[in-house]
Amino acid sequence: MKDINELFNDTDLYIKETFKIFSSDKDNAFCKINDSELKRMLDCLGFGINKIITKCKKCNMEFPFDFIARDVNFYTMNNNKKSYNLSDGISIKLFENKYLHLDSIDRVVNYDGEKNIPIACLEDKTWYLTYYLTCTNCFRPYYMNLVLEQKGFNFILRKIGQYPSMFDVHGFDFSKYEKQLERINAYDDYKKADLSYAEEYYVGSFAYLRRIFEKLVNKYLSETEEKPSDNRMDSKIKVIKNRFDPLIQNSLKNVYGVLSASIHELDEEQSKEYYDILKAIIDIQLEYELTEEDKKKNATKYSSELAKISSKIKIESE
Ligand SMILES: [Zn+2]
Repeated sequence: MKDINELFNDTDLYIKETFKIFSSDKDNAFCKINDSELKRMLDCLGFGINKIITKCKKCNMEFPFDFIARDVNFYTMNNNKKSYNLSDGISIKLFENKYLHLDSIDRVVNYDGEKNIPIACLEDKTWYLTYYLTCTNCFRPYYMNLVLEQKGFNFILRKIGQYPSMFDVHGFDFSKYEKQLERINAYDDYKKADLSYAEEYYVGSFAYLRRIFEKLVNKYLSETEEKPSDNRMDSKIKVIKNRFDPLIQNSLKNVYGVLSASIHELDEEQSKEYYDILKAIIDIQLEYELTEEDKKKNATKYSSELAKISSKIKIESE
């Protein structure tokens, strides 16, 4: 784990990350601080990092999120709860009345303690950390809970909670079809369709999907000799029907109806219903294109490999 960005975006709950902060000398009486491990731990805790980048569920795209608050709680030996802000740092008791104060690598390097820390002074301890973040675009709040444990020479960090969940955050990943959509200049339409839908502007979101579907049909038409009998969408679709996933070729009939409705006549409810139909068709088709392209790529690769092998066999048998 590199830093708090990775911790929030790509690390599953309860995965242990160990930082070997202290290392002992030969006779096991003293230990030293391992600066690079300490730096990594501070990065993972987000010291000196004011923003992370993640997908905002409301904006439906990646945005920087500001840390609004980072609270640290820990319980003392006699079970008293102490709370403070992470910007005040975390103190590790090294000696009687002497603390290693973790709030930046500089403060750590300049701590006024001795170079060698008696191992007997290290105390096991647990900190509970709560992070509040908000989207810089829409101020939607996100949360994350961590537990940091000191156990001997090591510190163990775990993410124990997150809202929204990582699945929720990454669920909106539409980059999968980016290449195909860029080819027909429809990637923005695709993102805007989802964005409008998330904001409950169904008429608008349906209008974006219509544009994507038209661009897709026009691309297929441009790649075929046959011309449609007229300019109506159903005539066009008839000509290029076989370019669609065989599983949805029969459902294309429903698409005529959906597309023939004038946008101006649709209310929000109808638009939502039509959006669902068209979105399903478009996504199935994009997935179909993607797998067909993969198959073609693999076939080309294997046939050239097979050609090499067979010519090798020929040479050897001659
Ligand atoms: Zn947002």
